Amino acid sequence: MSDQDELKQHFAQRVIHQARELLEVWQQLQRSEWSDRYHTALTDATLRLRRFAERFEQTEHSELALGIEDCLGDIQDNRGRLSSDTIATLSQLIYRLARTGLRHNDPQTQPFIPPLSKPVYIALQDQQRAEHLVRQLDFFSMSAQAFSTDSAFQAAMHQRHPAAIVMEVDFNGPGEGLQLAERIQQGLDEKLPMLFFSHAETDTPTRLAAVRAGGLEFFTGTLDASSLLEKIEIFTRTAYYEPIRVLIVDDSRAQATHTERVLNNAGIITRTLTEPIQAIGALAEFQPDLIILDMYMPDCQGTELAKVIRQHERYVSVPIIYLSAEDDLDKQLDAMGEGGDDFLTKPIKPSHLIATVRTRAARARSLKARIVRDSLTGLYNHTHSLQLLEDARFRARRDNRPLSFAMLDIDHFKQVNDTYGHPMGDRVIKSLALFLKQRLRKTDHIGRYGGEEFAVVLPDTPADAACKVLNDIRQRFAEIRYPAQPQDLSCTFSCGITELSPDSDTDVKTLTQQADEALYRAKHGGRNRVERF
Ligand code: GH3
Ligand code: MG
Ligand code: MG
Repeated sequence: MSDQDELKQHFAQRVIHQARELLEVWQQLQRSEWSDRYHTALTDATLRLRRFAERFEQTEHSELALGIEDCLGDIQDNRGRLSSDTIATLSQLIYRLARTGLRHNDPQTQPFIPPLSKPVYIALQDQQRAEHLVRQLDFFSMSAQAFSTDSAFQAAMHQRHPAAIVMEVDFNGPGEGLQLAERIQQGLDEKLPMLFFSHAETDTPTRLAAVRAGGLEFFTGTLDASSLLEKIEIFTRTAYYEPIRVLIVDDSRAQATHTERVLNNAGIITRTLTEPIQAIGALAEFQPDLIILDMYMPDCQGTELAKVIRQHERYVSVPIIYLSAEDDLDKQLDAMGEGGDDFLTKPIKPSHLIATVRTRAARARSLKARIVRDSLTGLYNHTHSLQLLEDARFRARRDNRPLSFAMLDIDHFKQVNDTYGHPMGDRVIKSLALFLKQRLRKTDHIGRYGGEEFAVVLPDTPADAACKVLNDIRQRFAEIRYPAQPQDLSCTFSCGITELSPDSDTDVKTLTQQADEALYRAKHGGRNRVERF
């Protein structure tokens, strides 16, 4: 390697290291509260990132760092306080940072280094199974490493910490895996994401022990790559953290402002209404994770408003927390029967409020994720896909941005089932789902529209760009070979795309008809192609 290459290598490493450090600082906010110390840590990390990015000529990184510095400046101007706008902007910037790879100007070298790709460590009894998982994860650009012995695993741990660990409870002997996990976590300041696996269903003490060893997930039965990948993605890309959104309805400005400050300081985005009457409109637009309702307001009681909210099917499961005065204790029980989930008394202790909001919102999110998702693929189901299209359409029109909608259908899928069997068909469906998740942006919504049909909502994307992306995915998907008898299998899909142009008034029903029509043309034009309405 020439001196210059070595220097480049050095700066590349520094940029990656700094980006990672910044992400880690940001992630801490999800568990703590904003403070001067925190502000300083983030400022320092950002400044270092920008310096290295400039020297290594990584314009995207340096622009993102500049954006973050701007936000930090805003916070300073705001007397050290976070505001909803800054939280939203910061999390967007940091999300982009997590997704930005390094670019070499030199075409001879590798064009792209994935940014934060720590490997996943896999420790299973069945070595072949582990290797197979590694290959499958690799196919979806997630690097993983399998270990066959306790010592090899420990050696790797000394070398480098992984993004996550998949540990079989009985790795290296009955119960040994669990103990190994415990030992690893004990030595760490910050626990590593640990996913446990056991062939057989296990007893509660084992599950408890797993939780204590930092187990975030416990798989039983057969461990398949798709569910594993989905979980690991959630735990390792925590940089992509959607800030919690809370709607506050309180007739007292002062009380509402106090609540907002406490929550903003914990990185939570808020919106306040002093007129309960506006609540339903605000729900549709703001899409809160949770609602805080004042119990007593002159125009409308909190409990009445809760009833109205619960009448809307979409908001049946949004948690509602009541705020009330100390002496309402008698009425509190009644209120809980009226669609409330929790009760907090004024004056509220900030840490109590934050903890309540965080746990309630997290539980509501994971519950919602189960309800709106298809069980085979983990994608959004039909109903929710349309809901997301509706929301995206609303935002596109409000912000005057383009929006594309795509419908995909696997070609000659009946033949796949007939020739290779239904389970093989299921595998193809799952792998296309994973493929789409990997290749599209996190801001795109992917749904399983029907049996072998998928729907993709692409906000902020004109049809040209959407066609390009999906055409690329189409080509790559067609290259996948599924090992099978009598011969390997490969599949293709057809795709129809339509665009909601910024000033148009097209409704969701028409959009789906247009995409469907384009899909129909793709099918009749010979399949394995993308057509635009
Ligand atoms: P075309 O290229 O025109 O789309 O042909 P096709 O065979 O894909 O279309 P058709 O709609 O006739 O058949 C779809 C098949 O997909 C029929 C159904 O049995 C199968 N299918 C639907 N859902 C599932 C599923 O969840 N798993 C499996 N394995 N097959 C499914
Ligand atoms: Mg079909
Ligand atoms: Mg089909």
